[in-house]
Amino acid sequence: MSVRTRADLDQLPAYVAGRTVPGSIKLASNEVSEGPLPSAVAAINQAAGEVHRYPDMGVGRLTEALAAKYDVPAERIAVGCGSVALCEQLVQATCTADDEVVFPWRSFEAYPIITQVVGAKQVRVPLTGEHALDLAAMAAAITPATRLVFVCTPNNPTGTLLRRAELEAFLDRVPEDVLVVLDEAYFEFVTDPEAPDGVEIAKRRGNVASMRTFSKAYGLAGLRVGYTVAPVEVAAALRKVCIPFSVNALAQVAAIASLDAQDELRKRVANVVAERERVHRELVALGYEVPETQANFVWLPLGERTAEFNKHCLDNRVVVRAFAGDGARVTIGRPEENDAFLAAARSFRRSAR
Ligand SMILES: *Cc1c(COP(=O)(O)O)cnc(C)c1O
Repeated sequence: MSVRTRADLDQLPAYVAGRTVPGSIKLASNEVSEGPLPSAVAAINQAAGEVHRYPDMGVGRLTEALAAKYDVPAERIAVGCGSVALCEQLVQATCTADDEVVFPWRSFEAYPIITQVVGAKQVRVPLTGEHALDLAAMAAAITPATRLVFVCTPNNPTGTLLRRAELEAFLDRVPEDVLVVLDEAYFEFVTDPEAPDGVEIAKRRGNVASMRTFSKAYGLAGLRVGYTVAPVEVAAALRKVCIPFSVNALAQVAAIASLDAQDELRKRVANVVAERERVHRELVALGYEVPETQANFVWLPLGERTAEFNKHCLDNRVVVRAFAGDGARVTIGRPEENDAFLAAARSFRRSAR
């Protein structure tokens, strides 16, 4: 006889991480190719000799730095071991078995996993034909059992952005006791002047939390640190369900140093945005359908041809993130990495004729 684990875990979808293939270019995980900000590396080096000590469990200095940056009370901020951990804590803090979590689909693949692990019910709302969040359908999907709604903007993996007016109209329709989580993992890459600022909305509305991360634009994916600006009672609940010491010491110093290095961040983001526009333009010129993107990746809705495209890219030493039968998400890398991907995309089109 073997140990009994939860039977429902058999139905749990597995999180598929972007693959690392030695000798190939990895454009599969929305990492920035340029690496961490130089200031963060210096801070990590300096702190390395102190890792025999437990980290600050309350994440005090980083929380204060974030509170100052956004001009909010520290009680409204919670820091987590990556924003994906905060997403899970939010579901834990709001839901039990009979409660529902509404989210767009396809979107961040952690949402269904997290919801199922916590034991809540998931309500998936299909995207529009333009690969964007269908806010009208999401509002209609909210029931008395709904406790939490994930709104991912720009949406992973499609890159599409919600505009301020449509998001505000949606929020007006959400009952005040339902928490709306604005997952803004790619916020720093957004250039559209009509883009909403989740933190600004969270300051004004009592049921909105903005979720951001140091993993993407800041280049600290390997250190695992994200944060939320949330209603006071939500931030307090997050701290209750948090695993003690889960935000490690190097992550804390690196995040603080990164916040202090906004000029380094701006330079890197500008490079990514310029390359994003170039890659988008060239793909469209090659005849691909590519939704407008405000993130550091492009989405190719290739449907049944996704697997074939994925294999072709792998054969050309470029690793993309394929969602079988649906599409491929390709991270914007350095210019030469993007050139390698564009060459693969070009030869795929040629072979397809
Ligand atoms: C990458 C990503 C995250 C999570 O990032 P962490 O590394 O856990 O901070 C959250 N949401 C979306 C939509 C993402 O793409």
